[in-house]
Amino acid sequence: MPFAPAALTLLIMILDGLLDIIFPSYCVGCNIYITGGKTICEKCFAGIKINSGFFCGRCSARLPVAKKICHPDFPYILGSASSYDDEKIKNLVRLLKFKYIKKSAEPLADLIVRYISATNLEIKNFTVVPIPLSRKRLRERGFNQAELIAAKIAEYFGLPLRTDILLRQKHTKPQSETKTLYERKNNVIGCFVINNSEKLLNGNILLIDDVTTSGATLLAAAEALKLCGARKIIALTAARA
Ligand SMILES: [Zn+2]
Ligand SMILES: [Zn+2]
Repeated sequence: MPFAPAALTLLIMILDGLLDIIFPSYCVGCNIYITGGKTICEKCFAGIKINSGFFCGRCSARLPVAKKICHPDFPYILGSASSYDDEKIKNLVRLLKFKYIKKSAEPLADLIVRYISATNLEIKNFTVVPIPLSRKRLRERGFNQAELIAAKIAEYFGLPLRTDILLRQKHTKPQSETKTLYERKNNVIGCFVINNSEKLLNGNILLIDDVTTSGATLLAAAEALKLCGARKIIALTAARA
């Protein structure tokens, strides 16, 4: 063994310190210099407004608890922690998806954790499933941002994380490059496949993505999961546009 655990911890601390010097980070909200590889300061993070309820994925009606009221047949209930109108969130997502700053997944996951706690969402028997990326996009980005967020949520609440159930079978263009709702829906229809469906039967799913806009991606994924036997699906995102 080359290093004792204590020496290894010390080495990691030194490397972290060096990284802070070589790549200093600034808060996405107030631009102050922050250490520890963080992307947002505590004050700005605490200032993000957390939603108090849920949304119908079909008509966006507000739901006080995670129970379908207006569109009972729609395959998922939407739980978005906050609003994408908040510039701090836009910046966190940009860092994560377009500047490949992995650390930015942490505050986005923390927002969902805060939201789950604030809404008293019952998630005891749920399995955490991230929206997958196509292989091409995964190669380009090097990581799946939804999976990073999902892993943190699963860890925090002690829930199983499964990345082998919902898979992406075709490469689609980014939803941000589509213009109309029709185009968004068409872009993702049939792009998900279910693997190991026996693991899914009657299971409750927390479907995780960073942000939702039209909901077309979540819908395509939720429909595939439902077809293969999922019971309750709650889609959780850090923000909703
Ligand atoms: Zn700040
Ligand atoms: Zn509705």
